[in-house]
Amino acid sequence: MTGFPAGPTGSGVPDRAGFLPGADGATPPAPGDLALPVAGRRVLTGPDGRFPGVGELPAVTDWVPVGTLDGKPAWAADLDEADAERLSGRWRSWPSLAAELPEPLATLAGRALGVVTWRRTHRWCGACRTELADVPGETARRCPGCDLYLPMRLSAAVLVAITRPGPAGRPDELLLVRHSYGPTELWALVAGFVEAGETLEAAVHREVGEEVGLALDRVAYFGSQPWAMSGPATLLTGFTATAADPSAEPVLDERELAQARWFPVDALPAELPPAYSISRWLIDATATAGRR
Ligand SMILES: [Zn+2]
Repeated sequence: MTGFPAGPTGSGVPDRAGFLPGADGATPPAPGDLALPVAGRRVLTGPDGRFPGVGELPAVTDWVPVGTLDGKPAWAADLDEADAERLSGRWRSWPSLAAELPEPLATLAGRALGVVTWRRTHRWCGACRTELADVPGETARRCPGCDLYLPMRLSAAVLVAITRPGPAGRPDELLLVRHSYGPTELWALVAGFVEAGETLEAAVHREVGEEVGLALDRVAYFGSQPWAMSGPATLLTGFTATAADPSAEPVLDERELAQARWFPVDALPAELPPAYSISRWLIDATATAGRR
């Protein structure tokens, strides 16, 4: 197969112009600034689905800067359940927001969730146990006791769409897997976290070797997506690749996977990852390219 889209342009990855992550809290929030209160892993939206203004939530005072949307500052706040119940509106999970909101609003909501989760889980110095202090203008904390500097860190993960040529006259085939935990009904891509000391490309080869025992050719970068489903901050990076041996069958790591199967790209299963995920963008782009 040839002719993959070269990257985000034309591959279905949305344009994120308009949202810039930031941490500028020098000026206090104005009533018209965007407000993203967070409770647990949920974000508040108004009944019409939009984010409220800071001035609509006078009871909330502990605002944290998360960036700007079309130049307008956006602020998050970490609320406990009792305070959250007093605010009217809809409390939404990130998957629900990402499924419904256009970009860049879902990315902004993911950033608010990430920053709040990171602050909640990084309160004390891991070296000397002193309470950490915010670093003005940065999404970072510093220890007043031992000067340890703790910027908010990203976890990087790779996803790989592996194809092989189909039988003569038939479209290419795509390898999809079912995990033995999590959403086990979904047919997904081989994926995993990047280890320290590893390039993204090395992680692709390692994860595919570990999970399905296949060697790869033509590993190519596809695009990336900030992912707010769990943890403070994950960056998903997508790759395409071809099986080095087109006759090789997957050998499963049964601790991780329940099934792995080659599907003709014109006969993919219905149980695919959601439309807002880079997994799905990769699968759709692979299916389009593999029919040519
Ligand atoms: Zn310390």
